[in-house]
Amino acid sequence: MTAPVRIGVSSCLLGEKVRHDGGHKRDPYLVETLGQLVEWVPVCPEAEAGLGTPREPIRLVRDAGRSDGVRLVSRSGVRLTGRMRRFARDRLRTLAKTDLSGYILKKDSPSCGMERVKVWTGEDSRSSERNGRGIFAAELLRQYPNLPVEEEGRLHDPVLRENFFERVFAYRRLRALFSSRWNVGALVQWHTTQKLALMAHSPVRYRELGRLVAEAREIPRAELGRRYEDEFMAAMRIRATRARHTNALMHAMGHFKRLIDEASRDELLAVLEDYRRGLVPRIVPLTLVRHHARRLEVAYLREQTYLNPHPKELALLNHV
Ligand code: SF4
Repeated sequence: MTAPVRIGVSSCLLGEKVRHDGGHKRDPYLVETLGQLVEWVPVCPEAEAGLGTPREPIRLVRDAGRSDGVRLVSRSGVRLTGRMRRFARDRLRTLAKTDLSGYILKKDSPSCGMERVKVWTGEDSRSSERNGRGIFAAELLRQYPNLPVEEEGRLHDPVLRENFFERVFAYRRLRALFSSRWNVGALVQWHTTQKLALMAHSPVRYRELGRLVAEAREIPRAELGRRYEDEFMAAMRIRATRARHTNALMHAMGHFKRLIDEASRDELLAVLEDYRRGLVPRIVPLTLVRHHARRLEVAYLREQTYLNPHPKELALLNHV
């Protein structure tokens, strides 16, 4: 786990002048804060597919004759769908070697946008609907269905941002496990350390994954790894709620409540109630739980990734 955390990114977000007008869309949070902690793998699909910079603007146009219902065309009508699809397929295959843990896309782009991209419709394509997906983004999600992917605009929402990075670091840890010489015992041990995180996202999925792990010895290893990764990442995509976090933290408290005095117990319960009511952020009860787990040497809790889901330098728990 000493390798850098690599995240794919639309190049223009890092300030590279690759947009159709020769400009960029530098995102200060990505460059100044995240840039200290991750290694970027920048890709500009339009520039790298050979469309040049500057270039004619391009857009998605409704085309009922195509399987995905859209085509990519330049302002003067040059059709670019096949070219962009081929580029995306080949470039994304080469990215498998870079061991990405996540991807951040530029919103609204007919190449990079993940959702609600404008699709032009009608005889003369003068009206539009916001229900498209960029051609490169669609291929990214097809080839890497479990990779955490977000748009830069959504990362300005503290809850979505925290969820994205929790998934990035969880995915990275899981990929590290599956790229080692793992066995069922290692998977069981790994799964145990995810209990609180899974409970916060989806107790139902936690139980389903528990059943998969219980049957692990009867499932061929490659299939087991695939199924576990699919189900685990699907669980982590489910938005954790304050109520479920409170539940997970209460569960954590259950591991040491008999070992602390009444005043400490009351203090923690009061902080949990404040968190549940939205009066304090999650870092407050989490810090208290971490403190007791460390002081009382509760090994089970100290191994839970839920207590340290991402690097503290990101300060993601201070706002959720
Ligand atoms: S949105 Fe994507 S295709 Fe457009 S300039 Fe940025 S990186 Fe390039």
